[in-house]
Amino acid sequence: MDDNQSDSLWAQFRSLFRDKDEETPLQKAISEAREEGDVAAEDAAMLLNALKLHSLTVYDVCIPRTDMVCAEITDGVRKIGELIVESGHSRIPVYKDDRDNIVGLVYAKDLLPALLEGDPERITIAEIMRPVLFVPENKSGRDMLREFLGRRTHLAIALDEYGGTSGLVTLEDVIEEIVGEIEDEHDVEGPEEFRFEDDGSVHVSGRAPLDELAEVIGLELTSEQVETIGGYLSELSGRVPHKGDIFTLSGRRIIVEDADKKQVRWLRIEPPAGETISAD
Ligand code: ADP
Repeated sequence: MDDNQSDSLWAQFRSLFRDKDEETPLQKAISEAREEGDVAAEDAAMLLNALKLHSLTVYDVCIPRTDMVCAEITDGVRKIGELIVESGHSRIPVYKDDRDNIVGLVYAKDLLPALLEGDPERITIAEIMRPVLFVPENKSGRDMLREFLGRRTHLAIALDEYGGTSGLVTLEDVIEEIVGEIEDEHDVEGPEEFRFEDDGSVHVSGRAPLDELAEVIGLELTSEQVETIGGYLSELSGRVPHKGDIFTLSGRRIIVEDADKKQVRWLRIEPPAGETISAD
Protein backbone atom coordinates (compact mmCIF):
# COMPACT_ATOMS: atom_id res chain seq x y z
CA MET A 1 0.00 0.00 0.00
CA ASP A 2 1.52 3.36 -1.01
CA ASP A 3 1.27 6.56 1.07
CA ASN A 4 -1.64 7.96 -0.95
CA GLN A 5 -3.70 4.78 -0.58
CA SER A 6 -2.80 4.63 3.04
CA ASP A 7 -3.85 8.26 3.69
CA SER A 8 -7.10 7.75 1.81
CA LEU A 9 -7.85 4.61 3.84
CA TRP A 10 -7.18 6.59 6.97
CA ALA A 11 -9.51 9.39 5.79
CA GLN A 12 -12.28 6.83 5.18
CA PHE A 13 -11.67 5.33 8.53
CA ARG A 14 -11.62 8.62 10.41
CA SER A 15 -14.99 9.51 8.89
CA LEU A 16 -16.44 6.71 10.99
CA PHE A 17 -15.22 8.45 14.14
CA ARG A 18 -16.33 11.95 13.30
CA ASP A 19 -17.70 12.58 16.75
CA LYS A 20 -14.40 12.82 18.57
CA ASP A 21 -16.17 13.19 21.92
CA GLU A 22 -17.24 9.56 21.65
CA GLU A 23 -13.65 8.36 21.45
CA THR A 24 -12.14 6.78 24.55
CA PRO A 25 -8.72 8.04 25.71
CA LEU A 26 -7.09 4.99 24.13
CA GLN A 27 -8.83 5.60 20.79
CA LYS A 28 -7.82 9.25 20.95
CA ALA A 29 -4.21 8.30 21.64
CA ILE A 30 -4.16 5.97 18.63
CA SER A 31 -5.76 8.62 16.39
CA GLU A 32 -3.27 11.23 17.52
CA ALA A 33 -0.33 8.88 17.07
CA ARG A 34 -1.51 8.28 13.50
CA GLU A 35 -1.98 11.97 12.79
CA GLU A 36 1.53 12.68 14.06
CA GLY A 37 2.86 9.94 11.80
CA ASP A 38 4.00 7.70 14.68
CA VAL A 39 1.91 4.76 13.52
CA ALA A 40 0.98 3.57 10.00
CA ALA A 41 -2.62 4.21 8.86
CA GLU A 42 -3.35 0.47 8.40
CA ASP A 43 -2.04 -0.35 11.88
CA ALA A 44 -4.05 2.46 13.49
CA ALA A 45 -7.20 1.36 11.63
CA MET A 46 -6.75 -2.24 12.80
CA LEU A 47 -6.15 -1.16 16.40
CA LEU A 48 -9.28 1.01 16.39
CA ASN A 49 -11.31 -1.75 14.73
CA ALA A 50 -10.19 -4.20 17.42
CA LEU A 51 -11.30 -1.75 20.11
CA LYS A 52 -14.69 -1.38 18.41
CA LEU A 53 -15.34 -5.13 18.34
CA HIS A 54 -17.10 -5.14 21.70
CA SER A 55 -19.75 -2.72 20.41
CA LEU A 56 -20.61 -4.89 17.39
CA THR A 57 -22.96 -7.83 17.78
CA VAL A 58 -23.09 -11.17 16.00
CA TYR A 59 -26.24 -9.83 14.30
CA ASP A 60 -24.16 -7.00 12.76
CA VAL A 61 -21.64 -9.33 11.17
CA CYS A 62 -23.60 -12.50 10.39
CA ILE A 63 -24.89 -13.79 7.05
CA PRO A 64 -28.70 -13.49 7.27
CA ARG A 65 -30.73 -16.72 7.37
CA THR A 66 -32.11 -16.09 3.88
CA ASP A 67 -28.57 -16.12 2.44
CA MET A 68 -27.45 -19.23 4.31
CA VAL A 69 -26.69 -22.20 2.10
CA CYS A 70 -28.38 -25.07 3.96
CA ALA A 71 -29.47 -28.64 3.36
CA GLU A 72 -32.48 -30.53 4.65
CA ILE A 73 -31.90 -33.61 6.79
CA THR A 74 -33.78 -35.72 4.23
CA ASP A 75 -31.43 -34.69 1.38
CA GLY A 76 -28.95 -37.27 0.17
CA VAL A 77 -25.20 -36.86 0.74
CA ARG A 78 -24.71 -36.41 -3.01
CA LYS A 79 -27.00 -33.36 -2.90
CA ILE A 80 -24.86 -31.82 -0.14
CA GLY A 81 -21.77 -32.47 -2.27
CA GLU A 82 -23.44 -30.52 -5.09
CA LEU A 83 -24.32 -27.65 -2.72
CA ILE A 84 -20.69 -27.44 -1.57
CA VAL A 85 -19.44 -27.34 -5.16
CA GLU A 86 -22.02 -24.77 -6.31
CA SER A 87 -21.69 -22.42 -3.33
CA GLY A 88 -17.98 -22.85 -2.59
CA HIS A 89 -18.80 -23.09 1.15
CA SER A 90 -17.14 -25.93 3.00
CA ARG A 91 -19.65 -26.18 5.89
CA ILE A 92 -23.36 -26.64 5.31
CA PRO A 93 -25.92 -26.28 8.13
CA VAL A 94 -28.60 -28.96 8.07
CA TYR A 95 -32.21 -28.28 9.11
CA LYS A 96 -35.21 -30.41 9.93
CA ASP A 97 -38.57 -29.11 8.67
CA ASP A 98 -37.45 -25.46 8.40
CA ARG A 99 -34.48 -23.16 8.88
CA ASP A 100 -35.51 -22.37 12.44
CA ASN A 101 -34.58 -25.90 13.37
CA ILE A 102 -30.88 -26.36 12.52
CA VAL A 103 -29.85 -29.82 13.68
CA GLY A 104 -26.26 -30.21 12.50
CA LEU A 105 -23.43 -29.17 10.28
CA VAL A 106 -21.85 -31.10 7.42
CA TYR A 107 -18.16 -30.46 6.73
CA ALA A 108 -16.78 -31.03 3.24
CA LYS A 109 -13.91 -33.00 4.76
CA ASP A 110 -16.35 -35.46 6.39
CA LEU A 111 -18.39 -35.75 3.21
CA LEU A 112 -15.51 -36.67 0.92
CA PRO A 113 -14.74 -40.09 2.47
CA ALA A 114 -18.50 -40.86 2.50
CA LEU A 115 -18.69 -40.10 -1.21
CA LEU A 116 -15.42 -41.77 -2.19
CA GLU A 117 -15.27 -44.80 0.08
CA GLY A 118 -18.78 -45.49 1.33
CA ASP A 119 -22.00 -46.06 -0.55
CA PRO A 120 -23.43 -42.57 -1.09
CA GLU A 121 -26.92 -44.00 -1.64
CA ARG A 122 -26.96 -45.65 1.80
CA ILE A 123 -25.15 -43.09 3.95
CA THR A 124 -27.43 -40.52 5.55
CA ILE A 125 -26.64 -36.93 6.42
CA ALA A 126 -27.37 -37.70 10.08
CA GLU A 127 -24.43 -40.15 10.11
CA ILE A 128 -21.85 -37.58 9.05
CA MET A 129 -23.11 -34.34 10.54
CA ARG A 130 -21.53 -32.68 13.56
CA PRO A 131 -23.09 -30.69 16.41
CA VAL A 132 -23.69 -26.97 15.92
CA LEU A 133 -22.64 -24.11 18.13
CA PHE A 134 -25.64 -21.82 18.79
CA VAL A 135 -25.14 -18.25 20.02
CA PRO A 136 -27.54 -15.39 20.75
CA GLU A 137 -27.53 -12.80 17.97
CA ASN A 138 -26.84 -10.03 20.50
CA LYS A 139 -23.54 -11.58 21.62
CA SER A 140 -20.72 -9.07 21.21
CA GLY A 141 -18.15 -9.48 18.44
CA ARG A 142 -15.40 -9.66 21.05
CA ASP A 143 -17.12 -12.47 23.01
CA MET A 144 -17.80 -14.32 19.74
CA LEU A 145 -14.12 -14.14 18.80
CA ARG A 146 -13.18 -15.44 22.25
CA GLU A 147 -15.69 -18.29 21.96
CA PHE A 148 -14.51 -19.32 18.49
CA LEU A 149 -10.89 -19.40 19.67
CA GLY A 150 -11.71 -21.17 22.96
CA ARG A 151 -13.84 -23.87 21.35
CA ARG A 152 -11.63 -24.23 18.28
CA THR A 153 -14.64 -23.97 16.07
CA HIS A 154 -15.12 -21.53 13.20
CA LEU A 155 -18.87 -21.39 12.56
CA ALA A 156 -21.93 -20.70 14.71
CA ILE A 157 -25.64 -20.28 14.14
CA ALA A 158 -27.07 -17.05 15.59
CA LEU A 159 -30.48 -17.26 17.26
CA ASP A 160 -32.99 -14.46 17.71
CA GLU A 161 -34.78 -13.82 20.99
CA TYR A 162 -37.49 -16.36 20.12
CA GLY A 163 -34.97 -19.11 19.41
CA GLY A 164 -35.42 -18.83 15.65
CA THR A 165 -32.46 -18.84 13.27
CA SER A 166 -31.17 -15.33 12.67
CA GLY A 167 -28.07 -16.10 10.60
CA LEU A 168 -24.70 -17.76 10.35
CA VAL A 169 -21.39 -16.34 11.56
CA THR A 170 -17.87 -17.58 10.99
CA LEU A 171 -14.49 -16.66 12.45
CA GLU A 172 -13.75 -15.01 9.10
CA ASP A 173 -16.72 -12.63 9.49
CA VAL A 174 -15.45 -11.47 12.90
CA ILE A 175 -11.80 -11.14 11.83
CA GLU A 176 -12.88 -9.11 8.79
CA GLU A 177 -14.22 -6.49 11.16
CA ILE A 178 -10.64 -5.96 12.30
CA VAL A 179 -8.58 -6.45 9.17
CA GLY A 180 -11.08 -5.72 6.36
CA GLU A 181 -12.37 -8.01 3.59
CA ILE A 182 -10.53 -11.35 3.33
CA GLU A 183 -10.49 -12.96 -0.10
CA ASP A 184 -9.84 -16.66 0.35
CA GLU A 185 -8.48 -18.99 -2.32
CA HIS A 186 -12.01 -20.06 -3.35
CA ASP A 187 -13.35 -16.55 -3.79
CA VAL A 188 -13.97 -15.89 -7.43
CA GLU A 189 -12.07 -12.90 -8.75
CA GLY A 190 -14.50 -10.06 -9.29
CA PRO A 191 -15.67 -9.23 -12.79
CA GLU A 192 -14.60 -6.01 -14.52
CA GLU A 193 -15.46 -2.84 -12.61
CA PHE A 194 -17.35 -1.37 -15.61
CA ARG A 195 -19.67 -3.32 -17.91
CA PHE A 196 -21.33 -1.43 -20.74
CA GLU A 197 -24.83 -2.30 -21.94
CA ASP A 198 -26.22 -1.72 -25.43
CA ASP A 199 -28.74 0.81 -24.09
CA GLY A 200 -25.89 3.05 -22.94
CA SER A 201 -26.15 2.26 -19.25
CA VAL A 202 -23.13 0.98 -17.35
CA HIS A 203 -22.94 -1.56 -14.54
CA VAL A 204 -20.34 -0.34 -12.11
CA SER A 205 -18.77 -2.17 -9.18
CA GLY A 206 -19.23 -0.42 -5.85
CA ARG A 207 -15.44 -0.68 -5.51
CA ALA A 208 -14.76 1.39 -8.63
CA PRO A 209 -12.58 4.40 -7.70
CA LEU A 210 -14.08 7.86 -8.23
CA ASP A 211 -11.17 8.93 -10.45
CA GLU A 212 -11.79 5.96 -12.77
CA LEU A 213 -15.48 6.81 -12.89
CA ALA A 214 -14.54 10.29 -14.12
CA GLU A 215 -12.05 8.88 -16.60
CA VAL A 216 -14.17 6.03 -17.99
CA ILE A 217 -17.66 7.55 -18.10
CA GLY A 218 -17.05 11.23 -17.40
CA LEU A 219 -18.98 11.28 -14.14
CA GLU A 220 -17.02 13.61 -11.88
CA LEU A 221 -17.58 13.09 -8.16
CA THR A 222 -15.15 14.22 -5.51
CA SER A 223 -14.82 13.47 -1.84
CA GLU A 224 -12.20 14.07 0.82
CA GLN A 225 -13.35 11.06 2.79
CA VAL A 226 -13.85 8.18 0.38
CA GLU A 227 -12.39 7.02 -2.89
CA THR A 228 -14.92 4.53 -4.30
CA ILE A 229 -18.39 5.07 -5.73
CA GLY A 230 -19.87 2.67 -3.15
CA GLY A 231 -18.24 4.67 -0.36
CA TYR A 232 -19.44 7.91 -1.96
CA LEU A 233 -23.08 6.77 -2.01
CA SER A 234 -22.78 5.54 1.59
CA GLU A 235 -21.33 8.88 2.65
CA LEU A 236 -24.13 10.70 0.86
CA SER A 237 -26.86 8.60 2.48
CA GLY A 238 -25.30 8.39 5.93
CA ARG A 239 -25.74 4.57 5.73
CA VAL A 240 -25.01 1.76 3.31
CA PRO A 241 -27.62 2.16 0.56
CA HIS A 242 -30.05 -0.69 -0.10
CA LYS A 243 -30.74 -2.55 -3.31
CA GLY A 244 -33.19 -0.45 -5.37
CA ASP A 245 -32.10 2.92 -3.91
CA ILE A 246 -31.89 5.56 -6.62
CA PHE A 247 -29.65 8.65 -6.72
CA THR A 248 -29.45 11.41 -9.28
CA LEU A 249 -25.97 12.90 -9.54
CA SER A 250 -24.84 15.33 -12.23
CA GLY A 251 -28.06 14.57 -14.09
CA ARG A 252 -27.49 10.80 -14.12
CA ARG A 253 -29.65 8.24 -12.45
CA ILE A 254 -27.71 5.75 -10.37
CA ILE A 255 -29.58 2.63 -9.27
CA VAL A 256 -28.20 0.34 -6.58
CA GLU A 257 -28.46 -3.19 -7.97
CA ASP A 258 -26.77 -5.21 -5.27
CA ALA A 259 -25.76 -4.32 -1.73
CA ASP A 260 -25.37 -6.04 1.59
CA LYS A 261 -25.26 -4.49 5.00
CA LYS A 262 -21.54 -3.73 4.68
CA GLN A 263 -21.15 -2.44 1.14
CA VAL A 264 -22.64 -1.53 -2.23
CA ARG A 265 -21.62 -4.31 -4.61
CA TRP A 266 -23.08 -3.21 -7.94
CA LEU A 267 -24.92 -0.23 -9.34
CA ARG A 268 -26.20 0.83 -12.72
CA ILE A 269 -25.55 4.29 -14.07
CA GLU A 270 -27.91 5.46 -16.76
CA PRO A 271 -26.73 7.84 -19.48
CA PRO A 272 -27.86 11.47 -19.32
CA ALA A 273 -31.29 11.78 -20.98
CA GLY A 274 -30.93 11.61 -24.79
CA GLU A 275 -27.28 10.53 -24.66
CA THR A 276 -25.42 7.26 -24.50
CA ILE A 277 -22.26 6.55 -22.55
CA SER A 278 -19.54 4.83 -24.51
CA ALA A 279 -16.34 3.06 -23.48
CA ASP A 280 -14.08 5.20 -25.66
P1 ADP B 1 -16.05 -21.05 3.50
O1 ADP B 1 -14.63 -20.94 3.00
O2 ADP B 1 -16.51 -22.45 3.74
O3 ADP B 1 -17.04 -20.24 2.69
P2 ADP B 1 -15.42 -19.14 5.62
O4 ADP B 1 -15.41 -19.35 7.10
O5 ADP B 1 -14.11 -18.82 4.95
O6 ADP B 1 -16.07 -20.44 4.98
O7 ADP B 1 -16.50 -18.03 5.30
C1 ADP B 1 -16.45 -17.19 4.17
C2 ADP B 1 -17.75 -16.41 4.11
O8 ADP B 1 -18.78 -17.31 3.71
C3 ADP B 1 -18.19 -15.84 5.45
O9 ADP B 1 -18.81 -14.58 5.22
C4 ADP B 1 -19.22 -16.83 5.95
O10 ADP B 1 -20.18 -16.27 6.82
C5 ADP B 1 -19.85 -17.30 4.66
N1 ADP B 1 -20.36 -18.69 4.76
C6 ADP B 1 -19.72 -19.78 5.21
N2 ADP B 1 -20.52 -20.87 5.13
C7 ADP B 1 -21.69 -20.45 4.60
C8 ADP B 1 -22.95 -21.10 4.26
N3 ADP B 1 -23.14 -22.41 4.46
N4 ADP B 1 -23.93 -20.33 3.73
C9 ADP B 1 -23.75 -19.00 3.52
N5 ADP B 1 -22.61 -18.33 3.82
C10 ADP B 1 -21.59 -19.04 4.36
